[in-house]
Amino acid sequence: MKIRSRLITSLSVLVFILGLGIGAIEYWVVIPKVQSLETDGLKADLRHVDEAIKRELEHISELATDWGRWDETYTFVQDLNPDYLKSSLAEGTLSELSMDFLLLTRNQQAISLHTSDRINTIREALTERLHHASIRAHLADGGSGLVTVKDQVLMVSASPILQTDGTGPSMGMLFFGRLVDNSLLQTLEKIVSLEVSLTLDNRKPGTVKITFPSDSQSLSQAWLPLIGEENRSLHIQLQGDRPFFDQTLTSTYYLMGIIFVLGIIGTFASYFLLQHYLISPILKLQRAVHHFSRHHSLTAFDPEPRQDELGNLTEAFKEMARRLSADREMILNEREQLRHESLTDPLTGLGNRRYLIQNLEKHSHWANGHFLLVMNIDIDHFKQINDCHGHDAGDQVLREFAQLLKHCCRDQDFLIRAGGEEFIAICEVASEEDASIIAERIRTQAEQKRFVEGLITLTCSIGLLITPMNSPRQLNKSWNNLFKVADMALYRAKDEGRNRCVGWRHYYQAQGLEEQLPMTPEELEQALEQHILAPVGL
Ligand code: GH3
Ligand code: MG
Ligand code: MG
Repeated sequence: MKIRSRLITSLSVLVFILGLGIGAIEYWVVIPKVQSLETDGLKADLRHVDEAIKRELEHISELATDWGRWDETYTFVQDLNPDYLKSSLAEGTLSELSMDFLLLTRNQQAISLHTSDRINTIREALTERLHHASIRAHLADGGSGLVTVKDQVLMVSASPILQTDGTGPSMGMLFFGRLVDNSLLQTLEKIVSLEVSLTLDNRKPGTVKITFPSDSQSLSQAWLPLIGEENRSLHIQLQGDRPFFDQTLTSTYYLMGIIFVLGIIGTFASYFLLQHYLISPILKLQRAVHHFSRHHSLTAFDPEPRQDELGNLTEAFKEMARRLSADREMILNEREQLRHESLTDPLTGLGNRRYLIQNLEKHSHWANGHFLLVMNIDIDHFKQINDCHGHDAGDQVLREFAQLLKHCCRDQDFLIRAGGEEFIAICEVASEEDASIIAERIRTQAEQKRFVEGLITLTCSIGLLITPMNSPRQLNKSWNNLFKVADMALYRAKDEGRNRCVGWRHYYQAQGLEEQLPMTPEELEQALEQHILAPVGL
């Protein structure tokens, strides 16, 4: 994977993780925290409702105690004095006290029961219900609580009937009670600012339950005990909106959206910064390294200077490339020098045998229909020159003899020093006569020239072969044969007394060139007999 792809993948993973992280924070931290705060608030609301009901019960309890410790009530229960009813319990007294009933009992017998119109329907059942053993036990000592009568819920309190100074003996019991109705609901709704409902429920009392049916609705429930009932309770339900949750959730979404957008912007910014400051320079450096490895030059590479690790790396690379280029140039020069030296005869400056082998096949400029003249040229009795004039003089002779040969040949001709005092020349000629003229010119000029400042004279022998250039391909395969024939011609020239040119003209036959040319003296004789070779007249 390329470095840019890796970067894009990494940044995408980063954005993905950022999204996941924000979602996780929302799901596991923000929402539970908000719900927990809401739950605390709703529990407090339930507590306020509970306390309000308790306050109401206390109020009823105070009223019962107040009326129960009153001489007139005492006297009435003792003597059943009707004046008491006239003076204290006029029509409207209950509603003034916000009560729905007043019950006076003596020896557990109801002696006076006053009810409001609202509970007339349960009037008969009320006395019987209040005398139920479990309710009486709870209210006996001036207690209070919730009591159901025919599925109506009443807040009830009782007080023993004593004289005003609190002395007894107790003459009986006084009950005050109030129906749990809409006015109580309104009071509670004012306290908690929620929709309140109070119903009877077949469930044991004591539980509190907070639920969130939806993102916008909350439900808080509590079950209050009813006196004398274990499996039923007063179900309080508070239903309301969740403005806090909604607002928090909305602002959290905005916040998360902003974080996410900032994350993406940050990611893009990181990408462009990394691209500009890191990837792009690295890719430029990579291209420069490739270019350098192929072309050995850094011409197109000119990065902005920078003072960091990448800048150091770039400078190190440029320095390395500069040194490598210099070393390479030096090696190439030295190699060229060595190649030149390996192909050149240091004494005469002519090419050597290696030069001849390497370059003969490359010469394709020889024209068809012309002739090729191969000459083997050897200085006669050169050993004597060395012996008489010294080795240095011999060297000088070789140098001057090479100049003479150069002078006699043309630039496009091959001329090499084959070794010692022996030279090979290969010239393109238009005719047999031209070939003879060139060979004879070399021989006569060598004979006439005075070498080493006029001190030395010499002669040379030349063995030659003249062959038509019918096929360069065939020619390339038969150089050895051509040289061998010229060599045998040189032997002949030496044998016949030196200072002469001896050679043959080659005539083509049907088979290949290399098969026709002789390699041994016997084959030479055979070739002469078959007229493949014919002596050149000189
Ligand atoms: P021939 O007529 O049969 O060719 O006799 P020659 O003396 O020329 O030939 P020979 O092969 O007997 O001797 C060649 C001599 O050339 C022997 C050697 O010392 C000398 N020679 C070879 N290379 C050099 C060289 O580079 N410098 C000098 N000064 N002499 C060389
Ligand atoms: Mg010689
Ligand atoms: Mg020789």
